[in-house]
Amino acid sequence: MHKVIFLLISIICLSGCFEWAARAKDKLPTQTALDKTYNYDGKIIIIGAGASGLAAAKVLEQSNLDYSILEASDRYGGRLKKDTTLADFPIDIGAEWIHSDPIVLNLMKGKKGEDIDEQLLSYRLENTGSWDGQKYKENRPWLNNFVYNFMPESKFKNSTWYDFVDEHLAQYVKHNIKYNQRVTEIDYSDKKIIIKTENNENYVADKVLVTVSLGVLKSNSIKFTPDLNAEMKKAIDAISFDNGFKIVLKFADKFYPDAITCEVESGEKVYYDIAFKKDAQTNVLGVLCRGDEAQKYYDLNSEKKIIDNILLELDEMFDEQASKSFSGEYIFEDWGRHKFTLGTWTQASLEKNSHLKALNQSLDNKVYFAGEIYDQYKQMGVPGAVLSGYYSIDKLITEE
Ligand SMILES: Cc1cc2nc3c(=O)[nH]c(=O)nc-3n(C[C@H](O)[C@H](O)[C@H](O)COP(=O)(O)OP(=O)(O)OC[C@H]3O[C@@H](n4cnc5c(N)ncnc54)[C@H](O)[C@@H]3O)c2cc1C
Repeated sequence: MHKVIFLLISIICLSGCFEWAARAKDKLPTQTALDKTYNYDGKIIIIGAGASGLAAAKVLEQSNLDYSILEASDRYGGRLKKDTTLADFPIDIGAEWIHSDPIVLNLMKGKKGEDIDEQLLSYRLENTGSWDGQKYKENRPWLNNFVYNFMPESKFKNSTWYDFVDEHLAQYVKHNIKYNQRVTEIDYSDKKIIIKTENNENYVADKVLVTVSLGVLKSNSIKFTPDLNAEMKKAIDAISFDNGFKIVLKFADKFYPDAITCEVESGEKVYYDIAFKKDAQTNVLGVLCRGDEAQKYYDLNSEKKIIDNILLELDEMFDEQASKSFSGEYIFEDWGRHKFTLGTWTQASLEKNSHLKALNQSLDNKVYFAGEIYDQYKQMGVPGAVLSGYYSIDKLITEE
């Protein structure tokens, strides 16, 4: 019985970002701030050029308002990133699955109606397996169907989440991004807000939208003056934002199934065929790992040892085929230890409403917050981040 439950949980976990997805269409708003026009005289500063910050900026751009985006790194996209070098199709190095109903793509880009322009592939797995650390077992096909029917998800067929956000958001606002501006202090004690960066630049704004990850807020690397209130701090501490990474390995042969869930004590680990349904010739296998399970790999203290360890495990599962077939090429994106991310993802639908409410407060109607964990509609990942950007910027402009 225990094995069956594990199998079910494993299979459920295999779908998308491996957690329950908030897919209900009726949870989505019928319109967003993108559908409105705003008047506002002041200067708005957005901190962070991830999906959420870019979405909020597009609203300001449409209404010709005065705004800038301060981004700590030298690129936009945040936890969205793509690689075009390893395979014959673009690979998502950050967010990859569309957990929500695809209609959300229209909402995100401001298109009316139900026709979806994007070519999507349905993530209905055909061959999956599970690994308990010693024994590899093929799963029964009915389980894959059960999971898909219970929780249908999709992916972009020839494109990526990064491309979607780039085309529909970043292209409209990228001229207003200031790169390499890591914000270290936000002083909202006076009428004007003073924002300080690591390289000693000072910016002045009337309102600020903070879109950094929860990991960055947890690290206390941004000083708020006055300090955040106790409720907010409690919520930031209480919501976990796990360490973790994504690895992509290139092989000569495809010796593995569509996905393999691994039984772990705590955290999560899955192997999955990134080229699944992608019309690709290249064989690329993804490894997504987070939480305590990721820490076990970090403890190896070397990227090479991590890759060797993973190949060893695959060899055990598949009769030494992994090391024979490995091309030596791989990508290792360590989101958990990336200093501008400091974690992988959060999921509003799993958190207490009281914590979410506390996080969503503004600071004296001057400093507002947005990002995946602030999403009112509890969509996961990128849709949540974008919808929260729209929601919070509307609040920021309209609240006195
Ligand atoms: C491995 C992985 C897999 C995922 N898979 C999926 C998936 O399949 N589907 C899905 O929908 N979602 C997925 N997600 C989650 C998704 O990527 C995020 O929900 C979404 O990208 C968050 O966007 P955001 O704008 O809220 O935050 P971020 O993308 O974190 O953007 C914040 C921005 O702020 C910048 N910043 C940080 N600190 C500062 C500072 N001090 N000053 C100025 N700028 C700063 C950062 O550089 C970054 O650009 C995944 C995430 C990871 C890591």
